[in-house]
Amino acid sequence: MASTSDSSHDRSSDVPIEPTESESALETARRQLYHAASHLDIDPNIVERLKYPKKVHEVTIPIERDDGTVEVFTGYRAQHDSVRGPFKGGLRYHPDVTKDECVGLGMWMTWKCAVMDLPFGGAKGGITVNPKELSTGEKERLTRRFAQELRDIIGPNQDIPAPDMGTDPQTMTWLMDAYSMQEGETTPGVVTGKPPVIGGSHGREEAPGRSVAIIAQLVCEYYDRPLEETTVAVQGYGSVGANAARLLDDWGATVVAISDVNGAMYDPSGIDTATVPSHDEEPEAVTEYADTVISNDELLTLDVDMLIPAALGNVLTKENAEAIAAEFVVEGANGPTTSTADSILAERDIVVIPDILANAGGVTVSYFEWLQDINRRAWPLERVNDELEAEMRSAWCAVQTEYERRDVTWRDAAYIVALSRIAEAHEARGLWP
Ligand code: NAD
Repeated sequence: MASTSDSSHDRSSDVPIEPTESESALETARRQLYHAASHLDIDPNIVERLKYPKKVHEVTIPIERDDGTVEVFTGYRAQHDSVRGPFKGGLRYHPDVTKDECVGLGMWMTWKCAVMDLPFGGAKGGITVNPKELSTGEKERLTRRFAQELRDIIGPNQDIPAPDMGTDPQTMTWLMDAYSMQEGETTPGVVTGKPPVIGGSHGREEAPGRSVAIIAQLVCEYYDRPLEETTVAVQGYGSVGANAARLLDDWGATVVAISDVNGAMYDPSGIDTATVPSHDEEPEAVTEYADTVISNDELLTLDVDMLIPAALGNVLTKENAEAIAAEFVVEGANGPTTSTADSILAERDIVVIPDILANAGGVTVSYFEWLQDINRRAWPLERVNDELEAEMRSAWCAVQTEYERRDVTWRDAAYIVALSRIAEAHEARGLWP
């Protein structure tokens, strides 16, 4: 069963431009929209349009549990804006998934795709479910049924889901297979983040961490700091954190701290990151390899040159922002800095490079995957990495231009780049799309 809401909304849900410490993803996304708009001469009607998703699809998903009972879950797909191309964004399986969260995260995807100049709009979706409580068979049934419910609104030219929290390449494989069976033709381009054997891209898994490392390197170049003289602390040693830490280590930086949920390994003389297993290789094992263990809170306030929060959202807060000692923060996780902390860090002249730029390697290689799928031609890893670096450099240059021209923070500069591109496309096409 599906229901679809349009964009009629209560405007009293507007949020002020001034940040609050605990705001929802939707409030944050809207505040960032207003903030960027305040620096630009944009038709206010376009800003008004962008405050709302184009459509939010809500579906119920009944599945038969292994014990024979039927349970019904709720799923969403929030499609924010498609003026620059098909909707693009992840599908999340998590107990906290709500419609509003999908809308807010979908808006973030619009900004992220635009700052990278990818021909996509933004979307996000998910199912309110704890995937850890489902067997593999139950997850497969849930995903295939969700694919059926979403069938009419997704597709390589309409809306292209990807993995997010609680979903992975296997989930995307079931989704792609279910969609293809319903369409009567193999359609790899309907999702990204698939295994390479069915049309996934080489380098996709590593891409968000690689883009964080590339941006960290560009930050050092910009501020005339040799990477070889840069100390780095990385929170989270998963897909984003471990890949970023290992690349920076390879390129000459000194990674002095890495962490997982159990705590942090600290070695001021530098960690050989290749010898510590990532979350994927051996979950939550970082501290077992450490001589010196410190807490995650201590890691965040270490006296290092660069801090890379790459685990969770909202870890840099008004409580610890005054104690952050790093000169540069490169956001690996989505939303690691609360709005209040962001203001404090800005006042303290700490450079914060926003998530929508730094970890955008994931959606960028998803774009490459989509290109490979619709062209039916796989790229070698070297090409993926070369093109990713070119896209990251190009986005960095665009953001740098606004940073210098407008004397704003790097975060504001990134949003200004994104919003200008979206607004130009809306101005060219009109209010209709
Ligand atoms: P992951 O599951 O691969 O790894 C997460 C890591 O964080 C693990 O090492 C885990 O132990 C650690 N962690 C969990 N809770 C922690 C805590 N309380 N304190 C310290 N460490 C903790 O996840 P990931 O894919 O690397 O994602 C990390 C962040 O990056 C998330 O915010 C995610 O939304 C964001 N992100 C991921 C991608 C992607 O494609 N993987 C893309 C862009 C952004």
